[in-house]
Amino acid sequence: MTQPSSNSFPRLLSPFQIGSVSLSNRFVFQPHFTALTIGDGLPNDALRAYFVERALGGAGLIIDGHMTVMAEGMMAPHYLRAWEERIIPAYRPIVEEVHRAGSRIFGQLTHSGHTTLTEPPQDLWAPTQMPEPSSRYTTRAMDLSDIRKTVRRFGEASRNLVSAGLDGIEVKIAHDGLLRSFVSPYFNRRTDAYGGSFEKRMRFPLEVLESIREAVGPDVPVGIRICLDEYTPFGYHLDEGLRIAERFEASGLVSYFNCDAGTFSSFWMEIPPAAVEQGYFRPLNRALKGISNLPIVAFGRIKDPDMAERILALGEADLIGMCRPLIADPDLPRKLAEGRADEIRACIGCNDGCIHQVMQVKGIRCIQNPGAGQELVYSERLLTRAQVPKNVVVVGGGVAGLKVAEISARRGHHVTLLERDTALGGQIRLAAKQPLHQEIGEVVAYLEAAVKRLGVEIWLNADADVDGLLELRPDVIVVATGSQPDLPPGRRGSRTDPDAGTIARARGLQVPNALPGLDAPCVRSVDEVLADDVPSSQRVLVIDAHGHWEAAGTAEYLADQGCTVEVVTSRPEVGFGLEATNKVMFHQRAREKGIRLTPWTEVESIEHDGVTVRDLLTGEERRIGPVDVVVPVFPRVSRDDLYFQLLDRVGNDADVAVLRIGDASAPRLIQTIMLEAQQIAMEL
Ligand code: SF4
Repeated sequence: MTQPSSNSFPRLLSPFQIGSVSLSNRFVFQPHFTALTIGDGLPNDALRAYFVERALGGAGLIIDGHMTVMAEGMMAPHYLRAWEERIIPAYRPIVEEVHRAGSRIFGQLTHSGHTTLTEPPQDLWAPTQMPEPSSRYTTRAMDLSDIRKTVRRFGEASRNLVSAGLDGIEVKIAHDGLLRSFVSPYFNRRTDAYGGSFEKRMRFPLEVLESIREAVGPDVPVGIRICLDEYTPFGYHLDEGLRIAERFEASGLVSYFNCDAGTFSSFWMEIPPAAVEQGYFRPLNRALKGISNLPIVAFGRIKDPDMAERILALGEADLIGMCRPLIADPDLPRKLAEGRADEIRACIGCNDGCIHQVMQVKGIRCIQNPGAGQELVYSERLLTRAQVPKNVVVVGGGVAGLKVAEISARRGHHVTLLERDTALGGQIRLAAKQPLHQEIGEVVAYLEAAVKRLGVEIWLNADADVDGLLELRPDVIVVATGSQPDLPPGRRGSRTDPDAGTIARARGLQVPNALPGLDAPCVRSVDEVLADDVPSSQRVLVIDAHGHWEAAGTAEYLADQGCTVEVVTSRPEVGFGLEATNKVMFHQRAREKGIRLTPWTEVESIEHDGVTVRDLLTGEERRIGPVDVVVPVFPRVSRDDLYFQLLDRVGNDADVAVLRIGDASAPRLIQTIMLEAQQIAMEL
């Protein structure tokens, strides 16, 4: 098969000029919050390493999205205090390293205005006193001195950033924030010089731009991250977004536009998860490009280099904004340039590691890339060749086994991977069958391609036992045998799937689920439901005691098969563990598909054609039925028989190390399992 070469992406890899600044290619690492800094208002080593990683990976332009102009404008305490001169020496090392790596770096200045992640919030500044509809906190209507102070601060902060060596300034009039709320007719109800008409709504952000331009001079690029559509019933839409952009461009103060959409009230459109089609926002980019003479950065679920190249070829934009794809694979641009497109590790749009973390004001992570946000410790650039190559045998070809095999092989170990199934991937292959979840399959696609490329010996259909494993003369056996539903034998998975937790249960290391009726004929596991064809028109009850996609996605899958589905949970909501953008969109779809969601409801027992439940708020007991199928989703249990058998045989034999990882150690989500696998492989 012919591999794509760098010639396949001539536009994406071609240089570009924004004013006085030359970019080596069209990749823009989009501004975003990482929560990596520590709250003293200055960048730290973690943030430096985060940006340098993407510069080394080949991004032409990096835009730091952590910079604010005053304490009241901080989205979180982790934002950088760009208005203070101490940022100049603190930021300079980042600029120098990014430049040395061949990239350019801009600073995006923002004032969070009526929105914040801080709880309880600071004084929230806004054009008009009113809460952002998604918030329960109201705002302070800015007076003239507030406006003047803010205008001045944007100028001072810009001057500091340029003094620190940053190559350009971007102003955020998008997403969350003060400047967007001033241009938005819904949020700006003022009747003074700063509201009441389109021109007056534009006045404050234009004064901010003038202040910045005055501070940095005519040659430094000053761009706008612009919200083109607020995607709310009450907000403005594309026609108004274009009108706003036109007015900014007419001012002659702006060097480029970086497209954007959504607000806190439509945050699932700000950072759209996999449920939003790739390239969904292309019409917005195209529309702005159609009316503007300035360079345009395209945005929104662009992860496929072919799509990115097409966007440039069709003249929809001049630059390609990528955020999550470069979190998942910082080396994406470099791999393209080196003709290694097939080695790219794709962002799967899960939002579980990146957005879910930072919305909780925790350091950014990525389920695909254990090094994301932890570059100082887990960057792949830190992987070293093992001094003594070992014979590593991995049992299990799910995510944990594949990841440990990949990193071990990259370190020079000889790796053999045994998988009892006919294909690699484990539970991921089932998860990918859930509606709008196909992209999770790219986790396995990357790992499978990587281990094959690295020469890992893969045995499929391989039932591992202790004698067979020891015959391979391993130095290390890594048991990654995964997990099984916490249901009685015969109800766990496909009917041919043998139980693999018997030893742990006999030793009191696993406790069987005590819910009465789990062995009823109507009970089927998620594994079984997703693996087999489910007859349509069945009445199905799903018990969500886990909160993640296992229950929510399976319920949706069954509804799509024509089943009548109800999901009960003892928690306040079904899917209680889902990341916020995914949760909203799941609930929207559940409503559309007629899935009944019943919170605060504990299942007391399962009978042959129904369940008895108790309302946790009233204590009232009732019966749900008749139903044909009950799918209980509890936290899974480890398949660890092999691990204990190995321990019993080799004991503390120093010649063979026996390790267990992934779900075989404790069933968890992919993010922690990927990290654990990398940690273990780095120490082999
Ligand atoms: Fe993409 Fe998921 Fe990684 Fe976020 S956590 S960058 S959405 S793969």
